[in-house]
Amino acid sequence: MSAPGRLVVVATPIGNLGDLSPRAAAVLAEVDVVACEDTRHTGRLLSAAGIRTRRLASLHAHNEAARTAELGNLLAQGASVALVSDAGTPLVSDPGARLVQAAVRVGAVVTAVPGPSALLAALVVSGLDTAHFRFEGFLPRTGPERRRRLEVLAVAEEPSVLYESPRRVAATLAALAAACGTDRRVVIARELTKLHEEVWRGTLGAALAERGEGERRGEHVLVLDGAPAPKSAPLPGIEEALGRLRGAGLSVRDAALAAEVLLGLAHRDAYRSALAAGSPPSGEGPEPPVR
Ligand code: SAM
Repeated sequence: MSAPGRLVVVATPIGNLGDLSPRAAAVLAEVDVVACEDTRHTGRLLSAAGIRTRRLASLHAHNEAARTAELGNLLAQGASVALVSDAGTPLVSDPGARLVQAAVRVGAVVTAVPGPSALLAALVVSGLDTAHFRFEGFLPRTGPERRRRLEVLAVAEEPSVLYESPRRVAATLAALAAACGTDRRVVIARELTKLHEEVWRGTLGAALAERGEGERRGEHVLVLDGAPAPKSAPLPGIEEALGRLRGAGLSVRDAALAAEVLLGLAHRDAYRSALAAGSPPSGEGPEPPVR
């Protein structure tokens, strides 16, 4: 029995052929099979880049189960397979997750040739916080799940990256404004890496006023800023906290223990502060430190 094969997840350009890396080209030329969403689309990319492949196999939303089984068998027999999508990084709002799972199951080596993705390209030009962010992908078009996602977006404190088709951008901006308020900042990244690349920055209200009507052509990514952090009440000072605990009827010992655990006070300091915090409820005498 031959050793299991190799699956390489290969990122391809999101609009600019120059973004196909030399390593991506080398892998696509050397593997036994290139699995792609649309053989004509990937065929054009490969011929524009001067790459000859042994075999192209379509793998898309409608044949994913059957094709994954077939490719999984090839991987189990030792074949090398590259996985690409129409643009960007496979599995990011694109098919391929099942194939990766199948490859893992049969013990194939799974590697990536990282590269273009509209998600990261939009995020890094947005000017918003990049230390923490969320990827929302495409919002569901209707139904309770769409409402639920919008509720999540309304309160998420990190920027969220959304994909959208040009026909639905205006409706999505309106839905976001209704859920998050018109003051929330948004960045609209259109046609990234292409001739008519555009990055628009403003509020959802301004986006609706300036861009809500008329459809704009091309691929869009929306980067929605995070919600402001809720204002939390300042923590009470230690004396005040102990005073409240004593006022609530806790003994000196219990109040000290609570301060020790909750506020991180040293045991002796907690006990002293609890003693100083106020007179014990009637009938309670002074207690010795617990330890
Ligand atoms: N897997 C791809 C990736 O890594 O970016 C995304 C695939 S998803 C089916 C396609 C969506 O990506 C488009 O609807 C658009 O939201 C976004 N997109 C792709 N290329 C883009 C580009 N050049 N400029 C802006 N958005 C783009």
